[in-house]
Amino acid sequence: MGALDDGQFDANVAETAIVRGGGGSGAMEIEDAVRILLIGLGENLEREGLRKTPLRVAKAFREGTRGYGQKVKDILQGALFPEAGFDHVTGQAGGTGGLVVVRDINLFSYCESCLLPFSIRCHIGYVTSGKRVVGLSKLSRVADIFAKRLQEPQRLADELSHALQNSFTPAGVSVILYCWHIQFPEVVKCDQIPWYPSESGIQGWLQTSVCSRTGVFKDKNSSFWEEFKLLLKFRGASFTLGNSRGTLAHAWCPSRSLDLPEGNGRISSLLVGAQSEMLAAVTSIIWSLGEDPFRKELVGTPARYVHWLMKFKKSILEMKNNGFLLHKTDPHESSNGHVHIADEMSTELNLPFCAQCEHHLLPFHGVVHVGYFYDGEKKAIDRPALQSMVQFFGCKLQVQERLTKQIAQEVDSVTGKGVMVVVEANHICMISRGIEKTGSSTATIAVTGKFSSDASAKALFLEAISRNAASGGFF
Ligand SMILES: [Zn+2]
Ligand SMILES: [Zn+2]
Repeated sequence: MGALDDGQFDANVAETAIVRGGGGSGAMEIEDAVRILLIGLGENLEREGLRKTPLRVAKAFREGTRGYGQKVKDILQGALFPEAGFDHVTGQAGGTGGLVVVRDINLFSYCESCLLPFSIRCHIGYVTSGKRVVGLSKLSRVADIFAKRLQEPQRLADELSHALQNSFTPAGVSVILYCWHIQFPEVVKCDQIPWYPSESGIQGWLQTSVCSRTGVFKDKNSSFWEEFKLLLKFRGASFTLGNSRGTLAHAWCPSRSLDLPEGNGRISSLLVGAQSEMLAAVTSIIWSLGEDPFRKELVGTPARYVHWLMKFKKSILEMKNNGFLLHKTDPHESSNGHVHIADEMSTELNLPFCAQCEHHLLPFHGVVHVGYFYDGEKKAIDRPALQSMVQFFGCKLQVQERLTKQIAQEVDSVTGKGVMVVVEANHICMISRGIEKTGSSTATIAVTGKFSSDASAKALFLEAISRNAASGGFF
């Protein structure tokens, strides 16, 4: 724990950090704050995989919130141009039909409640007026300004629609957002993979849709709102107005379900000692990004973020690792997810996990499939034992390749006849770095013993995974 042991905790550190910060360049460097978080997690800052983590995290936070430094008018300046024919107004909004729709703008934002990124698909419609239209590419750039801030879906939709309305005064603006947020492990039952049917069928994600309308889109006698929805429907997106304002923030971010109803974070009381240093560090990060950590919606955010990080604390888990209780079972008894393929090969599919990427301090989550050969005289390892192994190796700062290898080695140390492990995961850091869209996945494989030399054993196991996937598995 080093310099930040409980004994050295300064109760005023949060205030100190904020005074130092002043919201500008004098703020505690985000990198320093990330180092405090890593030390709080019991990690060694000199460890190879972590050396550049403070830099990476700081960069991601800065890029992910660059919208605070951008202005709508800078983007729209010069992008408004007169449309020929608008001088002779004959029909709706200038005789051109009026409605302009830009669909499927992919964005990501940072959740203001927990600081984890969430994924957004944005649709914008507007009705021209004043004989001016706006360059279409500019709409997605304006949307990005508001997405690149600490956000909540409804506020994002409202800020975007009002900014567009005020900047070039169309007859009306309509914004529909579909948003996906990662689920939290404690909200998910360990033995079940969450399934939230959604437009794009992403598992393990919470989805919500929100809309914001101005001008003619709010007018009951106007058909623009219906036309806009219809145009989205052609693309497979349907939308119904069901979300009531105000309650959404609680329903949306799964970390909020850990709060007490009055918003007095139950989790705050659990954070003591060195964790207060971590709280101050997160408060300082929020300040450095250009936000006010005392804004009502952000008051509980440091506690939620630290609570999330502490799930991956090293020391707690090392203590838990007093040997896995390897209850061995009879492989011929089939249980949930257990498939008995051949006399000596046993498989367990879809063991869920949630790990924390040590390069970006962001979660990656998915499922682990384990196949192994065992001595016919002995019994197979039961599912709960494999699940606790997966949890042990997953619940820390990790990389997927190492996680895969460690599980294979651990199972091999018990069975000793050859193990194959396949890990399928979604990486949140891939979304926030803009590399991939939500829903892409990464698979890694590790083999030992008989699986290294026997191609048919490998094929048999991979086939079991794909058969399972076809019948509603992870992907
Ligand atoms: Zn959240
Ligand atoms: Zn990463």
